[in-house]
Amino acid sequence: METILLLAHVEPDGSLAKSAREALHAARDLNKALAGSTLVIGLSGENVQAAANSIAACPATKYFGVQGVEFAPSRYATDAAAAEALCKAAGATLVVAPATSRWNRVLPGVAQRLAGRVDSHVTGVAASGPQPAISRWYYRQRMEATLTRTQRPWLILIDPGSQKACDCGPGAAAVEMVPVNLTDSVKRTTVLGLRQPPADAQTIRPDAPLLFVTGAGWTKKQADGQTHVPEAEKLILDFLKVTRASLGSSKSLVDLGGEGQAILPFLSHLNQIGQTGATPRHPKGLSTCCHGEEPHTVGWRFIGERRAISLDPNCGWARGKADVLYVADAFAVIAKVNQLLAGNP
Ligand SMILES: Cc1cc2nc3c(=O)[nH]c(=O)nc-3n(C[C@H](O)[C@H](O)[C@H](O)COP(=O)(O)OP(=O)(O)OC[C@H]3O[C@@H](n4cnc5c(N)ncnc54)[C@H](O)[C@@H]3O)c2cc1C
Repeated sequence: METILLLAHVEPDGSLAKSAREALHAARDLNKALAGSTLVIGLSGENVQAAANSIAACPATKYFGVQGVEFAPSRYATDAAAAEALCKAAGATLVVAPATSRWNRVLPGVAQRLAGRVDSHVTGVAASGPQPAISRWYYRQRMEATLTRTQRPWLILIDPGSQKACDCGPGAAAVEMVPVNLTDSVKRTTVLGLRQPPADAQTIRPDAPLLFVTGAGWTKKQADGQTHVPEAEKLILDFLKVTRASLGSSKSLVDLGGEGQAILPFLSHLNQIGQTGATPRHPKGLSTCCHGEEPHTVGWRFIGERRAISLDPNCGWARGKADVLYVADAFAVIAKVNQLLAGNP
């Protein structure tokens, strides 16, 4: 009989992140699919009670917590100690956790300590007969595989955005606190703080309903024989401001910076979508001034509805990569769209 542990760290404000609720949804799916299994919750952080209460209506039979000021920051040694203690206290055979940067770096080491196994980038869970099974993508999202394992505990890191977030409501959870003995050597790394770009400079928004992708065409000579980079910059930023879309890019456009050409300063390689870039998840995507070549569109695997604006009627989008292709000048289209979105028809 499997004991399924949902393992999550709480946020600095004491809440549970959406990615943790998504992992809980996956854990619950496994729990429903595996006859005789039990679902338990393990939380770590400075104070876990509020997070436990926020999901108290879920069908977990027990709640375990590791808490204290030492467990607030993302620090390998204390996070690993907390995760190990929670897995042991729960007697977990399956550990389902959100693939946050924090758990991604810690849980493989925890699996080693527990003589278990770990799988990252998991996008689905199910039962294969009486056995749990997971699915994940390989070769830059071109092939999907289903895997089972006999080794326990099996730690499963669920990719954020791949599941529905569980909507179980609040209540009063009885949390069993698990003591963790921290030696000084475990605490020798001090987290001084976080550095992040100001909110309006943050163009990558994983939770946005729309992915807006810019291609190299924005920096190319246009019908008048001139480039129009400042105009492109304004159109793109205005569009992002009104839509709060997440900004993606083709490789050609982000590479131009390295080649010393005029580029859009708010783009970095982190915005790149594709085979050597990111594979984000959004309900909709709009590509502009991009050719839609295979190494780029492979990164659109998890975009629900795809639309593109390109001057070239024979571009890759026209060959089955997009649901709708507008053969049009993106400068003109986005200018008009921005005008409409600003309420000026
Ligand atoms: C191993 C490998 C890995 C790669 N990985 C990636 C990757 O991860 N991501 C990625 O993006 N690429 C990747 N590439 C590169 C990829 O093959 C393409 O070269 C790249 O995607 C092209 O970028 P682009 O479409 O923006 O530019 P271009 O091919 O230059 O296309 C520009 C497009 O803009 C259009 N255009 C110009 N002006 C306008 C206008 N006013 N209105 C509308 N349309 C206009 C043009 O018609 C053209 O179709 C990889 C290549 C290799 C070999």
